[in-house]
Amino acid sequence: MRLVVLGGGESGVGTAILGKKKGYEVFVSDFGKIKDTYKEVLLLHKIKFEDEKHTEDLILNADVVMKSPGIPEKAPIVKKLLEKNVPILSEIEFTNQFTDAVTVGITGSNGKTTTTMLTYHLLKQAGLNVGLAGNIGKSYAWQVSEGKYDTYVLELSSFQLDGVETYKPHIAVITNISPDHLDRYEYKYENYIASKFRITMNQTEEDYLIYDADDEAINNWLKNNTTKAKLVPFSISQKLEYGAYLENDTIKFKITNESFDMPTNQLSLEGKHNVKNAMAAATVAQLLKIRKDTIRESLSDFQGVEHRLEKVLKINNVQYINDSKATNVNATFFALDSMITPTVWIVGGVDKGNDYAELLPLVNEKVKAIICLGIDNKKIIDTFGGIVDEVVEATSMNDAVKFAYRMAEKGDTVLLSPACASFDLFESYEDRGRQFKVAVQNL
Ligand code: ADP
Repeated sequence: MRLVVLGGGESGVGTAILGKKKGYEVFVSDFGKIKDTYKEVLLLHKIKFEDEKHTEDLILNADVVMKSPGIPEKAPIVKKLLEKNVPILSEIEFTNQFTDAVTVGITGSNGKTTTTMLTYHLLKQAGLNVGLAGNIGKSYAWQVSEGKYDTYVLELSSFQLDGVETYKPHIAVITNISPDHLDRYEYKYENYIASKFRITMNQTEEDYLIYDADDEAINNWLKNNTTKAKLVPFSISQKLEYGAYLENDTIKFKITNESFDMPTNQLSLEGKHNVKNAMAAATVAQLLKIRKDTIRESLSDFQGVEHRLEKVLKINNVQYINDSKATNVNATFFALDSMITPTVWIVGGVDKGNDYAELLPLVNEKVKAIICLGIDNKKIIDTFGGIVDEVVEATSMNDAVKFAYRMAEKGDTVLLSPACASFDLFESYEDRGRQFKVAVQNL
């Protein structure tokens, strides 16, 4: 059997290793450059590869192809494979056939990484032999090839889910859905929503689907479609008979016979969105029969994830917060919503068709000054210029942070929450976040 892996990144290299171990003849092809570290790994495992090209003769003869999630369906090589009816799987689907591990699959437009890391933390603290994979860290395929864990928490993007045919998580989580990546879905929101719900399509009556019951797109889908999984809702705005909900600043879990409470001020992560993430993660833990005390403890000592509402430093009693991962309006909405002091807001970058209108009330209430950090800031200036006293433009992180330092007064917060992608001025959102932290440290 010939396995061709398209894309020599983390998931591609992991799949190649797993495939080789299972007896496939493996070939890795990447149209871009493969990183040296991955080339070394491929050489070490005696796996053939090429980069900066796709040699059709070596690809179209595949029995099965694993396509890395970053490669779009419309890439010419993918089209040719589809014409020849070669099965194209995602890493998760390919790996699935080689493991009996129980998986928790987490998807959504925002909060995937935070919820995945928090869930992993809860299960690990409880002593489960659990691995963390998906879009985070070492690939699922690679870890399965090493066979170390019997439970996995997987962060699943819509791209990963698009390549799923038979995989089913025992517990699925959809954190929320708002428009994102529409360029990959023919600019149809319903296609993107359908892609997220692929997470539940193979689930059976013994499986669970945890979801945000306050989310319009999710509720609509559930009204018009069916799943066999047992539905477990969470909500911050309504009382539920079954699930997790909020009452008097306390999360109430009514999931198993043993219901329990957790005051939100005992959660280590701040903000309403993190209350939701905590509900989702703790629900998973309850379904896996983790003890209440362990859940409580783990929710209160979780350290958070870099670039997500990450507290950097307090200087002259001004708190600097790095939320560089907020690359869409919805994420920034929750960041602004969680601000409890007057805020100097650093925003901007590459706008993926943003509609800023939903931020207007929050900006009006909380933001005293805006620093635009992007090449084209017109939309931001047009939207907020009239309601915020000071709006300035910066073209480097250093300048932005210096402006912020001058504008902020004792008791204020400086928030980097761009609502945009970073590629105009930075390499990635991580690069943007790190530059922010360095600039703050240098003040
Ligand atoms: P993802 O992996 O889905 O991109 P992250 O956990 O990395 O999600 O968070 C991305 C951004 O969204 C961050 O700015 C974070 O503060 C914000 N965020 C986290 N959880 C939620 C949520 N449940 N709803 C909305 N925004 C969220």
